[in-house]
Amino acid sequence: MQDIFPGYDEAEVLRRVAERWTIGDDDLFPLPKFEIRCPICGSADVQARNWQFVYRDAGGAKYRCNVSFKCTVCSHVMTFGVVVPERMYEMHLSSPGSKLYHWRDVKARLEELGVLPRKRER
Ligand SMILES: [Zn+2]
Repeated sequence: MQDIFPGYDEAEVLRRVAERWTIGDDDLFPLPKFEIRCPICGSADVQARNWQFVYRDAGGAKYRCNVSFKCTVCSHVMTFGVVVPERMYEMHLSSPGSKLYHWRDVKARLEELGVLPRKRER
């Protein structure tokens, strides 16, 4: 039977996450290092929706960011529950809670930081 309760410690979880998401010391938001594809229709034409940092003290990793995308072809919405380092969480929240960023705010911040090139709205 497949092991669906692997029980990785936080260091191992973060090691795995870092292979697929930007969660390094200079990163403000987790961004995918891979192509996001819709699991329903297979399209890669997706739109980022929001980033929500959350704190959860229920065993395991405490700091997460739920990153959502919407398929612009079939409208399927998908959310990734990305475990993030405490350092990244503390750039957004100083105490346990949650903070939601709309994609326009994230895009503007990434442009300010030079992570994304500035471009005109279509
Ligand atoms: Zn789709």
